[in-house]
Amino acid sequence: MHKRLVNELRLDFDIAPQGPLLIKSGQEAGGDPTLLDMNFVRTTHADMGWTVYLPGSSLKGAVRSYCEKIGRTVGLDVCNPLTDESCGRRLGSDPKMRMASGAEIYQRLCPICRLFGHTVMAGHAWFSDAYPTAETIEAVNDTEERDGVAIDRISGAVAVGPFQLEVVTRGVFQARLTVRNFQLWQVGLLAVALRDMTDGRVPLGYGKSRGLGQVSLTYRKLQVSYPGQFGQTEGLDFGTALYGVTAFGIKEDYGFFPEEPLPLPSPHRVETAWGRATLTFGGADEIGPLLEATVRPWAEYVTHSAGG
Ligand SMILES: [Zn+2]
Repeated sequence: MHKRLVNELRLDFDIAPQGPLLIKSGQEAGGDPTLLDMNFVRTTHADMGWTVYLPGSSLKGAVRSYCEKIGRTVGLDVCNPLTDESCGRRLGSDPKMRMASGAEIYQRLCPICRLFGHTVMAGHAWFSDAYPTAETIEAVNDTEERDGVAIDRISGAVAVGPFQLEVVTRGVFQARLTVRNFQLWQVGLLAVALRDMTDGRVPLGYGKSRGLGQVSLTYRKLQVSYPGQFGQTEGLDFGTALYGVTAFGIKEDYGFFPEEPLPLPSPHRVETAWGRATLTFGGADEIGPLLEATVRPWAEYVTHSAGG
């Protein structure tokens, strides 16, 4: 991704399980009688100590694969990251790409790899690790046991099991999505995926086909900031519009989709300090309409790019 940072969006939100949730740790029980067969992933947090948590990589994986599904549904050319046809494999095996610039590589990525990255280039979107809130840390770590079975795909018979799953059923995790140097359509696609996650259509972790991993989201705070704004940037009015990366005159040809600034649902206060212009939106009343507005650039991108 381009080196100069021109815009950044940070969304803080809560994730609450709506039933059993299991993000598997790599650790198998082996001979340890204190562990179940499948355990929830844990880590040592500086303030909270040993606790279950939602790794950012798991959140990103779930949202990414959902965005792939959306992309294919609307007719975009989306690679399959698990095959030789993935953008990473395709570019990695092309000798011409060895000396290619970042812009040249970026141009040849599918929309999903542009947004989330792939093996040879970082993307625009990240999820931080999500830890329990202070109020719910005990409830979150008061995990439950469930029986699981593995079904043989061909015969339908029980192949393994029953085995014990460790699931989280209560409490709240604090998550953060960060998007940098974004195009407006990318925020729109993420907004659609997060809305669908709230509706239970983007399950997290293990056992999706059996109804595990249902969560609900609550938006807490959204900040949009533009670094490097030491004077009035000509033609830009951060208090009334949202600006994608193409508004900032990046010279290399990344093959960005041309976009107009997106009018904000209502004018908003801009704070400028240390050359960074920042807008802060709090609560669902302010964040919901803003995210909803970004769906229009996503729709425009699809209209111009699908079926090509
Ligand atoms: Zn791709």
